[in-house]
Amino acid sequence: MTKLRLAIVGAGPAGIYAADILLKAERRFDVSIDLFEQLPAPYGLVRYGVAPDHPRIKGIITALRDVLDRGDIRIFGNVHFGTDITLADLKRHYNAVIFATGARRDTGMELPGADAIGSYGAADYVSWFDGHPDVPREWPLDAASVAVIGNGNVALDVSRMLAKHADDLLVTEVPENVYEGMKNSAVTDVHVFGRRGPAQVKFTPLELRELGELHDVDMVVYDEDFDYDDASRDAIASNKQVMVIDRVLQSWRTRDSVNNAGGSASRRLHLHFWARPVEVRTDDEGRVAALVYERTRPDGTGGAVGTGEMRELPIQALYRAIGYFGSPLHGVPFDKKHGVIPNREGQVLSKDSNQRVPGIYATGWIKRGPVGLIGHTKSDAMETVRHIINDQGSWWQPEDPSEGAIPALLAERGVHWTDLDGWHRLDEHEIALGAPQERARVKVVPREDMVRISRGE
Ligand code: NAP
Repeated sequence: MTKLRLAIVGAGPAGIYAADILLKAERRFDVSIDLFEQLPAPYGLVRYGVAPDHPRIKGIITALRDVLDRGDIRIFGNVHFGTDITLADLKRHYNAVIFATGARRDTGMELPGADAIGSYGAADYVSWFDGHPDVPREWPLDAASVAVIGNGNVALDVSRMLAKHADDLLVTEVPENVYEGMKNSAVTDVHVFGRRGPAQVKFTPLELRELGELHDVDMVVYDEDFDYDDASRDAIASNKQVMVIDRVLQSWRTRDSVNNAGGSASRRLHLHFWARPVEVRTDDEGRVAALVYERTRPDGTGGAVGTGEMRELPIQALYRAIGYFGSPLHGVPFDKKHGVIPNREGQVLSKDSNQRVPGIYATGWIKRGPVGLIGHTKSDAMETVRHIINDQGSWWQPEDPSEGAIPALLAERGVHWTDLDGWHRLDEHEIALGAPQERARVKVVPREDMVRISRGE
């Protein structure tokens, strides 16, 4: 039987789904898969992008763990592609590689003053509250009034995690340093800015509704934002999601807190629509002091145009949640404009000539950009896997496809990799840390601790 030795780079949902689909679907080849992950633990975005107070989505880990626990995929964690292992190494030892490295950086924003002290990318804050090992342990939560730019689910995650009281996170897997940081937060008002209207938001109804359930946080919406045009009314009438979103927002309009009249909560979460950020004003020390924004109005087709009316809101911190962006991988074509690996249905294309690059594939957010929910990654993986199977004639012909070659290579390079047994050890350790407080787990944050516990050292 023909053997297919496949490397997958990235052990998030995209990489694990691709491995699972290939192993389940393929009967013509004897498939063996090695999964490389730069972090010491698997699950990518589900572990390090989904907010700790979203256990339902975190629950996807159970399905991903079942795939890994079947034992037919080898994991090499704490292995950085480009330094610890290179494309040339993969060519020497595999028939093909799938890159499933996701999109973890923030999209750049051309906003004067966006680089001021106190202006943050959402991705960095998310990494902090999710205990990512590669970001600083401390996060400055010293601002009373904060602006969040964007109307997607990440903007809502960030706003909720800014407004939420630390003690309300104690039931979750939130790391100790994050709980301590949030406990001392000075925040009183979180202002979320959408450049279009309530009928054009990208966030989803469940995530919006959840904001209204936060303990000791009042929702504030503004009457002037609900003067709908025909396009908005059509969107509400024809799209169930938009209809529910409108219903939730309308229910907040009838509360005491509407138009900032003030409820009784100690924190407020304001939703501003039709507001396009124009400039971040700073104080003498270069710190965020105010957000200048232009009032927009509907353009009749679901978009927005400026009205010329400028407003200014005093704030002390700003979070930009306008989308994620992929990172280039050494030796692999990269589309700098869109932050993805150029590809046709997952088959990687060279940057200049648009020609197929044999042996190299992509799946997940690095393939199609940072849009869609985690489940969408499955159909994405199916498409990529189908091409790998059909492309048998153009697979790489590895010099040494033996299974022992990779551990030997990593050992020779002094890489302290972690494997599936190691992940089980870290998993059990985190679960044990949470047990005394009846929490599902408490995450271990420093990379060296994760590696040490995984390797049983
Ligand atoms: P997103 O859904 O694409 O939302 C980006 C938001 O930023 C949009 O409201 C967009 O407005 C706005 N924006 C873009 N450029 C802007 C600019 N220059 N000025 C002002 N606003 C700007 O991206 P995301 O929130 O990063 O989410 C990424 C994906 O992850 C989505 O599919 C999301 O659903 C998913 N996700 C899901 C969950 C969950 O299920 N709980 C949690 C987190 C993320 P326009 O629409 O006007 O362009």
